[in-house]
Amino acid sequence: MQHDCLFCKIASGALPAHKIYEDDHILAFLDLHPIRAGHSLVIPKTHHVWFEDLPEHLATRITTCAQKIARAQKAIYKVPRVSMFYTGIHVPHAHAHVVPMHHMHDVTSSAYLHDGATAFSTPPQGDARELTDTATIISEHLIN
Ligand SMILES: [Zn+2]
Repeated sequence: MQHDCLFCKIASGALPAHKIYEDDHILAFLDLHPIRAGHSLVIPKTHHVWFEDLPEHLATRITTCAQKIARAQKAIYKVPRVSMFYTGIHVPHAHAHVVPMHHMHDVTSSAYLHDGATAFSTPPQGDARELTDTATIISEHLIN
C-alpha cells in the first residue's frame, strides 16, 4: 500500500467508496465524478501505477469484472454499448473506467474536454444519494 495514494486508501477501507464489487484482489466502485450515471472504476487492491504493468491475473480479473459490470449497465440503462478504458489520468493507481455510452462522444469525452482540448476538467461530483442508489442497483445485477 502506498500511503499517499487515494485508491490504496479506498482499497484498504481507510476511505469510503460506493462499492459495487470486491474480492481479495480487486475492487469496483462508482466514479465520484461520473461521465454518465453508473460510471464505474475497477482497481487492483495492490498499488500499480500503469495498467500495462499489472500482473496477468489482476488484468484478467479486472477485465472479467468490467465485463460483468458492462452487462449490468446495459440491462439497467438500456444502452447499446459500454466503454472500458484506462487513461492513467487523475489518480496514479491503475483503474479501468467502465461507462455506459448514451452517446458516441461519451468516451472522447466532451465532459473531460469541457475546458478545451488542451485541458482536462473533471465532470461535476455526483449526488451522494444517487451514487448510493446506483451502487446498490449495479451490485444487485452482478449477483445475478
Ligand atoms: Zn495505490
